[in-house]
Order: sequence, then C-alpha cells, then structure tokens
Amino acid sequence: MRKIALITSGGDAPGMNACVRAVVKTAKSHNIEVIGIEDGYQGMIEGRGREMTYNDVNNIIQLGGTILGTARSEEFRTPEGRQKAIANLKKWQVDGLVVIGGDGSFAGAQTLSREIDLPIIGVPGTIDNDIFGTDHTIGYDTALNTVVSAVDKIRDTASSHHRIFFVEVMGRDAGFIALNSGIASGADDVLIPEEWTDIDALVNTIKESSKGRRSSIIIVSEGDDAGGAKEIMTKVKPFLDGYDLRCSILGHIQRGGSPSVLDRILATRMGYEAVNCLIRGESGYMIGAKGEEMVKISLERSIKEHAKPTPDKLEMMHRLKTR
Ligand code: ATP
Repeated sequence: MRKIALITSGGDAPGMNACVRAVVKTAKSHNIEVIGIEDGYQGMIEGRGREMTYNDVNNIIQLGGTILGTARSEEFRTPEGRQKAIANLKKWQVDGLVVIGGDGSFAGAQTLSREIDLPIIGVPGTIDNDIFGTDHTIGYDTALNTVVSAVDKIRDTASSHHRIFFVEVMGRDAGFIALNSGIASGADDVLIPEEWTDIDALVNTIKESSKGRRSSIIIVSEGDDAGGAKEIMTKVKPFLDGYDLRCSILGHIQRGGSPSVLDRILATRMGYEAVNCLIRGESGYMIGAKGEEMVKISLERSIKEHAKPTPDKLEMMHRLKTR
C-alpha cells in the first residue's frame, strides 16, 4: 500500500473533517500518500484529486462540513461516468480507496468495486444515523445536539405564549434524530417514519399534555407517513379549536456547525481504523463502532439492511408521553 484515495460523499456531516484528518495522518505515519478527491464521485470523474499534506489537515478537526467538498453525482450512476472515474483512479495509481458517506455512497462503492480491482473501505458519515452495523454515524451526535438546543429555545417562546409547537427535524427514512431529540428535549410526542401516525391519538395527546401546562412540543420527522410538521398541524387543527398551534422547520441548520466531542472522537477512530484495514489487505467493509469496540461489516450488508430504533426505546417514549 503506497497510495490511497479519499472522498467525502452524499450529504455533508459534522465530523467528516476529523475523519479526513485521521485518514491522512494515519496513512502518512505509514508512509502512504493520500489523494484527496474534491466533491465525491463527481470529482473522481473529473480528475479533481490532489496529494494531501499535513498542512491540509491542520486545524480542521473543529470544522463542520468537509474541506474536500461533497456532491451527489448522477453521472457516477452510469457505466460511462464510472469508466472516467476508474481511468482517474488508475492515473493516480492508488492502491486503495476510503469512502466517507452514507449508504448511497456505499452503494456507489460496491458498484465501483465490480468494475475495478481496488480495495475499498467505507466510513459511515451521515447525520441520519440510519446505517446498519454501527451504533452511531459521524455527524449524528452533533445534529442531535443542534436540534435539542433549538427545541429548548422554541420551548421558551412556546411556554411564554401557551403554544403547541410542531418542530420538523431531518430524517426522510429514519426517525433517530426525531426520537432521540424528543427524548432529550422532553417532547410531548414524537412522529417518525418507522411508526404509523394516528391523528386521533395525536389530538388526544395534545389535549392531555396541554392540561395545566403552558406549552407542548411535538417533534416530527420530515419523512413521517402523515406528512411534515406543517401538514400534520393542518390535519389536527380542526380538532383543536382554541389552541394556538405553530410550526417550525429546523432545516439545514441541523447539518452544519462544529462537530461535538463525541463526533470528533468517533470520526478519528473510524478514519484510523479505515487505513489500518487497507494496510491489512481488507476490502469491501464498512467501519462501525459498537460500544467501545471498532467493528467492520461488509459493505453489502450495510447497504441491504437498515438501522431501526429499538422497540424498548419506542416503548419508553410512548410511556413518557402519557400524563
Ligand atoms: P446521505 O445519507 O447523507 O444522503 P448518501 O451517501 O446516502 O448520504 P446519496 O446521494 O444517496 O447520499 O449517494 C451519494 C452518491 O453515491 C450519489 O450521488 C451517487 O453518485 C452515488 N451512488 C449512490 N447509489 C449508487 C449506485 N447504486 N450506483 C452508483 N453510484 C451510486
């Protein structure tokens, strides 16, 4: 192993930079060169790669986003696009590839590995935490903290004005951010894609939780089956005459910001382990963290299976929302 390539791909997540830093520093400590590719698979297609120096990764551990840039590349989904990417990987003479991204990025890596004989290791970087084979993904903890501090602020105004707030958080297919921010902010209900939303039950919860209280907070995952926060608010409104209902969509603030301590440590350990895997000659794996252990599972499995909130956590949330 003399040279490896590195991309960040899919949605950006806080902690990706900490991972880039760990990959570069670990590789360099073994005299392995790193080609940092800009803007994910699109940059690979366009040949936008450069050798990473220590200077490139100094002072980046605390930065949100990704210094390499990231992209969603339609061209990489085509055989012609991937052939261009393969030509560049060959031109750079790399002996391995590290892909930091979500399950879409891993699907891209899997497809690529069928067309070029190149060891590939995936590192889960996405705020959604929806990747099978790891307790947490890079960026998730920071996003949760951002959501909880926003909900705390919303609660101040909700309490001052006797309001019911529907707060929409990210999570098209997975409710991890909604469920865990709901637990941490003491929300009155949490609506997630993994559970069917019963509008009548929600109306009852709101009526019950409002008795003798100045505010109610309902966290809504953007991918909930009953709709986003605005839609759900419209659905319950006819049954809640006299209640002051408001909605807040947190949007992209959930992606940005300096990574939390937990994300910096997770990202560093995963980046370090990714390079070690390549050095050991391993390929086709995703690095995961289970408790204090670093683990690896096949990329194939991490793509096929989906992480889901555990039933006991859901049960706990349901118990706590009743008065
Ligand atoms: P996030 O969880 O933040 O959305 P992601 O990695 O899942 O991140 P995607 O947009 O799904 O984000 O995937 C990133 C890129 O991976 C795509 O833009 C595309 O270039 C590539 N990709 C995804 N699936 C495939 C596939 N089946 N074949 C080839 N390339 C793919």
